[in-house]
Amino acid sequence: MNLLEQTAAKYRRLRLTATAAQLADLLTQAEANELSYLSFAQLLAEHELEQRTHKRIALHRRQAAFPAEKRLEGFDYRHQTTITKRQVNALLDFGFIDNRDNLVFIGPPGVGKTHLAIGIGHKAIEAGYKVLFRTALDLVEDLELAEMKGELKRRVRQLAKFDVLIIDELGYLPMSRQARYNLFQLINSLYEYRSVILTTNKDFTSWGEFFHDDNVAVPIIDRIIHHSHIFMLGGESYRLKQKTAG
Ligand code: ADP
Ligand code: MG
Repeated sequence: MNLLEQTAAKYRRLRLTATAAQLADLLTQAEANELSYLSFAQLLAEHELEQRTHKRIALHRRQAAFPAEKRLEGFDYRHQTTITKRQVNALLDFGFIDNRDNLVFIGPPGVGKTHLAIGIGHKAIEAGYKVLFRTALDLVEDLELAEMKGELKRRVRQLAKFDVLIIDELGYLPMSRQARYNLFQLINSLYEYRSVILTTNKDFTSWGEFFHDDNVAVPIIDRIIHHSHIFMLGGESYRLKQKTAG
């Protein structure tokens, strides 16, 4: 092993893997620019930090489990006029996450609710937050399974590790009493502690009926709506527009 290889191996032992992998290039760069010792030390530190940030963001993107690749950049506000770019951009300082506020997107199918939720989720990840995407149906199944194993509390704690939980399509299908109870346990644990981004086709007036108006429904709705930014989306389905266009 030459000196370069030996040095790279030492960086690896120190878990400075990005520096280890690029050591030859970094040295070449330092020599070409006649860097001072201090500037070179800074270059190594910055390189390692930058690569770690990239890695962490890539990991958070995988963990988020988005069902589709949707970006805010691809959102057409000329089609969807019931929300403005300004309103969406105002969310991207992520004050809503820091304040543990929720976002609720309400509207009929195809108007861009899921697209916006994923797009905002991506931006939050890029800003350093941890996000998890689940459909309400998946989430309820997940909680049901945990509950059967006597691990509901543990599962809720795991879900509460994310800064933002996206719950997509709440209200599309009826839920059993146990499912509603489990969901309540989750919402209760997240309340004023984490942010939820919720999409639903039901406005709040019909939520009682969806939740069968029992004593679990009211507190769930209450906790979601309290501290939340509510966006009522309307307009035509984008899917239909795509079909009829051209
Ligand atoms: P919803 O969740 O409201 O049912 P989606 O967000 O799933 O609707 O949108 C349906 C499809 O149309 C998706 O492929 C989405 O990317 C696209 N779409 C919806 N609205 C817009 C928009 N304003 N600009 C670009 N694509 C859109
Ligand atoms: Mg949707």
